[in-house]
Amino acid sequence: MTIRILPAEVAAKIAAGEVVERPASVVKELIENAIDAGATEIRIEVRQGGRRLVRVADNGCGIPAAEVELAFARHSTSKLTGVDDLARIVTLGFRGEALASIAAVSHLTVLTRVADEPVGSHLRLEGGSLVSREGRGCPVGTVVTVENLFYNVPARLKFLRSEATERRHIDRLITRYAMAYPTLRFSVTHNGRLTFQSTGSGQLYDVLIKVYGLDVAKQMLPIHGPPASGADSEITQPGTPGQEPLVSGYVSAPAMNRANRDHITFFINGRWVRDRMLAYAVEQAYHTLLPVGRHPLAVLRVDLDPAEVDVNVHPTKSEVKFLHRDRVFAAVQKAVRRTLVDQSPIPEMESRPGQWTAAGWERRQTLTAVGRERLPTQLALDAQRTGEFPPLMPAPQAGDKLPPLRVLGQVARTYIIAEGPAGLYLIDQHAAHERILYEQFMAQQEQVTSQTLLEPMTLELTPAQAAIMEEQLHVLTRLGFTIEPFGGNTYLVRAVPAVLVGADLRQALIGIVDELAESRMPPLAREREKRVIASVCKQAAIKAGQVLSDEELRELIRQLEATAMPRTCPHGRPTMIHLSQAQLEREFGRR
Ligand code: ADP
Ligand code: MG
Repeated sequence: MTIRILPAEVAAKIAAGEVVERPASVVKELIENAIDAGATEIRIEVRQGGRRLVRVADNGCGIPAAEVELAFARHSTSKLTGVDDLARIVTLGFRGEALASIAAVSHLTVLTRVADEPVGSHLRLEGGSLVSREGRGCPVGTVVTVENLFYNVPARLKFLRSEATERRHIDRLITRYAMAYPTLRFSVTHNGRLTFQSTGSGQLYDVLIKVYGLDVAKQMLPIHGPPASGADSEITQPGTPGQEPLVSGYVSAPAMNRANRDHITFFINGRWVRDRMLAYAVEQAYHTLLPVGRHPLAVLRVDLDPAEVDVNVHPTKSEVKFLHRDRVFAAVQKAVRRTLVDQSPIPEMESRPGQWTAAGWERRQTLTAVGRERLPTQLALDAQRTGEFPPLMPAPQAGDKLPPLRVLGQVARTYIIAEGPAGLYLIDQHAAHERILYEQFMAQQEQVTSQTLLEPMTLELTPAQAAIMEEQLHVLTRLGFTIEPFGGNTYLVRAVPAVLVGADLRQALIGIVDELAESRMPPLAREREKRVIASVCKQAAIKAGQVLSDEELRELIRQLEATAMPRTCPHGRPTMIHLSQAQLEREFGRR
């Protein structure tokens, strides 16, 4: 094979692929440009999950007529002059790649005007080449319209997911930016319908209400800044030189939690980044306060000296490197922990009116107290996580039935110890119950038993959750739910499947929606339905940390013995660890 330089257009497409992975990447880059341009209002229009169209309109400074074409050249930027600037970046953009990349893989039009020029410029590019340019009257600001994304990159087009999935990525991204910039007014329409709007009031709390709903927002605690900083919950200015890491934002009270880590959001100097270390710092702060397998919600901004962060790590700019990792970790963990400890026992510290209703407070306190006592469970979980058990874990075997077992007791309010002819069994009570409920549910076939609520319950969802609800409503209806749209992102729940009676319905429904959001839905309707049933059963099942009487333990095991596949939960995780007689003998050196 001869080595040759790639034709410019091939190279451009390859480079574009690094920046533009999916429609949400386009939205991200355009929003960042609007923010960098000093916009106070950003309107986003999406059609068909962004595949057909993404339009971002801002009232920022605009681009001078003489520079518009240059803006679409690769590595052209107004935000960086020399390599020294790279060491302390204060804008969101700096690589000068976004417009060039997006233009290379779409049909793009831009309409833009600066304040001191009488007419604006209107340009159209196809696959990165300029096809028309004219002067046109327009307000100061910029409108970029991206149509037919990846029309010339079939390989990428093939990997785009369903409209609902792409839309979810876009919604998550926009709501994150709205939380990072409470002073900006964001609005979003999907296929012509307004689905999200922030007020631009400058209060993060107002955005939290829009994103998560009032019920959730009420349970969020403002981070207490270090004693010196006055306005504790308000977003501070981007980092200034010499500044220690400053953490602000909101975290959920322990009683409010979610099934996944998706809801821990970080902004470093105003830039949304993914950072597992910082997410871990937050979870550490909740140590022993949360039920096993549950995760907090957090919206946190860390501001620090720009010279202490390297944002030039990845073309999508969604990862950063810290000069002093430990310092940032400690700052986050301390701020969150302090907030939880301070605010849990002392209700009157709150300044927001109407937040601490007596009932809400009592509930919060009992739940926090329960959380505090649950140390053994946490230890058990840690032990499992650090891999103390794996050598003993058998590969889950589907289909083989359990022998009759004798219950010996409950460990850490989470596991059941039982003995059988083949040795010792350590059974996860939650996973076992999930399996039992799942098989019972599947056995109902056509006639699902449903329970009508005495009083319908309103359920406020985030835009992302509402999209899932809309998409899966027909499946939920078949499974015994009666849920109706109630305007905006609110739904009215009238009936639920009988298995859910007695569960915390709100928490359960949110849990189901979140789980569906996370998993990739299989294409076959029947498989999709099974997935939803598994999710319902998970919410209905006995939780870890729940004390069970001897009678309940025996009944649970008896029902598990009756299932067809007792060794795995419906999600495929093991329900039990089996220590055979032979293994025990080996472990004790008897053989
Ligand atoms: P970068 O943001 O890294 O500089 P882009 O390719 O995203 O690179 O944009 C190139 C340049 O075009 C920017 O530096 C900026 O000067 C200009 N620009 C892009 N979008 C806008 C906008 N919405 N308003 C004003 N100027 C813009
Ligand atoms: Mg940019």
